[in-house]
Amino acid sequence: MTSAKYKRVVLKLSGEALAGDQGFGINPAVIQSIAKQVKEIAEMQVEVAVVVGAGNIWRGKAGSEMGMDRANADYMGMLATVMNSLALQDSLENLGIQTRVQSSIEMRQVAEPYIRRKAIRHLEKGRVVIFAAGTGNPYFSTDTTAALRAAEIEADVILMAKNNVDGVYTADPSIDKTATKYESLSYLDVLKEGLGVMDSTASSLCMDNDISLIVFSIMEEGNIKRAVLGENIGTIVRGK
Ligand code: UDP
Repeated sequence: MTSAKYKRVVLKLSGEALAGDQGFGINPAVIQSIAKQVKEIAEMQVEVAVVVGAGNIWRGKAGSEMGMDRANADYMGMLATVMNSLALQDSLENLGIQTRVQSSIEMRQVAEPYIRRKAIRHLEKGRVVIFAAGTGNPYFSTDTTAALRAAEIEADVILMAKNNVDGVYTADPSIDKTATKYESLSYLDVLKEGLGVMDSTASSLCMDNDISLIVFSIMEEGNIKRAVLGENIGTIVRGK
């Protein structure tokens, strides 16, 4: 069997990645394709933790722009990530993959509370751990959650799966046709150039803790496996 380059990964799925072309909600075909791809790497003995966003349902910033209290709007965003996490859990378990959802906001009827040591134990036993409810704090993002959890569980890399782009570009490729894709770059470049890879809180957390990040497209089936094998897909943002 081909061996994986990374043994423990954090897969960051934006909410939009679950929505597919419809842009809102959860697209069953898309979530099944993602679950299949996660299964592929879990079967390669790669330990997989997943952080799911909620842009397909609700974003705190949008709520606050409509006049809502920002913290309240952010809590709604965190709750929306729980819905996405349960949907992903369901798809994975339909494929026979053992999973646990751990929530940063306690809701014992639907998910375990986030306990770092327990999460690591699940991973060691080959279970896919889905981290729900972001960091549990308003004013943060699920990108920051991915960075934080990756540091906590000592993941080898963050796999940032995108549905609308296949890497990091010099400018937004959907607007600027002359934009070119980076093969690799540093977090300092990301921060200095203001590249929209992830928010600056997440970038600096990755930079300070030497966490590498691979940005790639999830729309091509098999890409998660390619990323884990170390194939040159997308863009790598190097921690060191
Ligand atoms: N959120 C938060 N704290 C966190 C993580 C998320 O308040 O630690 C809220 C925030 O309102 C955010 C929403 O949850 O807009 C959804 O997360 P995000 O925007 O990161 O989702 P994505 O863009 O990945 O779909």
